[in-house]
Amino acid sequence: MHLIWLRNDLRVHDNTALSAAAASGPTVAVYLLSPQQWLEHDDAPCKVDFWLRNLSELSRALGELNIPLLIRQASHWDDAPTVLLDLCQQLKVDALHVNEDYGVNESRRDAAVAETLNAKGIQFHRYLDQLLFKPGSVLTKSGTYFQVFSQFRKVCYDRLRVSLPGLVATPAPQLPLTVSSDLIPATIEGFETPSDGLRQYWPAGEAQARRRLDAFADARIDDYKNERDFPAKPGTSQLSAYLAAGVISPRQCLHAALQANQGEFESGKIGAVTWINELLWREFYKHVLVGYPRVSRHRAFRPETEALAWRNAPQELLAWQEARTGVPIIDAAMRQLLDTGWMHNRLRMVVAMFLTKNLLIDWREGERFFMRHLIDGDLAANNGGWQWSSSTGTDSAPYFRIFNPLSQSQKFDADGAFIKHWLPELAGLNQKDVHNPANLGGLFGVADYPSPIVNLSTSRQRALAAFKNLPARLDAGGCHE
Ligand code: FAD
Repeated sequence: MHLIWLRNDLRVHDNTALSAAAASGPTVAVYLLSPQQWLEHDDAPCKVDFWLRNLSELSRALGELNIPLLIRQASHWDDAPTVLLDLCQQLKVDALHVNEDYGVNESRRDAAVAETLNAKGIQFHRYLDQLLFKPGSVLTKSGTYFQVFSQFRKVCYDRLRVSLPGLVATPAPQLPLTVSSDLIPATIEGFETPSDGLRQYWPAGEAQARRRLDAFADARIDDYKNERDFPAKPGTSQLSAYLAAGVISPRQCLHAALQANQGEFESGKIGAVTWINELLWREFYKHVLVGYPRVSRHRAFRPETEALAWRNAPQELLAWQEARTGVPIIDAAMRQLLDTGWMHNRLRMVVAMFLTKNLLIDWREGERFFMRHLIDGDLAANNGGWQWSSSTGTDSAPYFRIFNPLSQSQKFDADGAFIKHWLPELAGLNQKDVHNPANLGGLFGVADYPSPIVNLSTSRQRALAAFKNLPARLDAGGCHE
């Protein structure tokens, strides 16, 4: 008997470990519920709900292949070795198959499981699946991990031109087993059920993910470069939640983009090329996570920035979290996050810069809050994004290039459509005032909308001074706007 342990790979198509297990013999699948671990990792309730909803769909799809999906409780990952060993012994499993997962705790968990099973003569097989490139396989000439994205990307393109990772065949149905699938729980204690509205934004299942990918590749990818920065437009794929849970694979995404671009990588249509670059940012940050494990231990990539005099300003942090900063583009973006579990990429950068520069609040506060609310929350990408925005990371925004949220608002939401959608209290304002209602002055202000909690120009100076005072000056890296 073979066991596939599903984690961030909730699909039957193009699933390397699943296909390998099924090719080896009769297969059973298992998923571990680990609420205590999830709480420790700040996994968002909407993300946990998304996992459960996808597991229901997956259980149905696996059922068509006669592969039962079992659910086991390993509240903390420390429990995983015992729980899996028990199951393997009960089912007389010869080998456990997994798609590799990355991060300090994930690697530790998998090593412990492998050791426990190996000691009892059960094999442990791992496969590259979550990424196009195994972390540690794209390195500089001197064998170190890249710190600059454009150099990393160049090596990726060189590799892809020589050998494109192919799609894995979906297993054929096996003969029915006597083991039956477990019910998938509808909720998990400690994680609130999200609103129906939020759930509707993110329908579960591979068919839904595929539909999104096809719709994007058919109709929108060509305009991606021009449209991707405007939050009121549906310019991006909105596939991040599906990629993070593995409901769709990066290979499927890459192939769809290449198909839209006549098989070309760096040339051809600029929209497809730009989108493939984003898939490579995802690869880059996973490499950073593995190559520089300090980033998954809440440490800055640039150690000198640990000395920064971050402000302890709980009221301002709360105002940012609750979308009451008085700066409309920030508050509209935060409402989008709270309501949908997702935020447009341009605005993730804008709100992160506002928190870490204008409010001079530690990026780790923002990183944690995002993780607790994002349906696509992913340690590598989230940490990478926060450290980019706060100028503490690899290839990050130079500290002196602080976004002005008002200019960003005027440039990327010129008619205020995004702001007005999320802040209906500002719907009556004209195209100019909607970006900065404070300009209207006290008497003419909007009754339900707060005044800005911070002066943008003095707070900018305060941030510049704080960064300048660091013991070793930061150099100016590249940027990924
Ligand atoms: P598209 O523009 O369609 O891009 C396609 C895919 O490429 C995305 O689904 C995603 O998987 C990947 N991708 C795109 N941009 C990036 C990037 N900068 N870094 C890594 N991967 C990228 N992305 C997450 O998936 N999870 C996170 O927790 C996360 N946190 C972020 C926090 C901050 C502060 C910032 C600035 C960015 C963060 N990102 C995160 C990256 C990016 O904002 C999202 O991936 C993107 O907005 C998702 O929308 P989309 O699927 O429409 O993306």
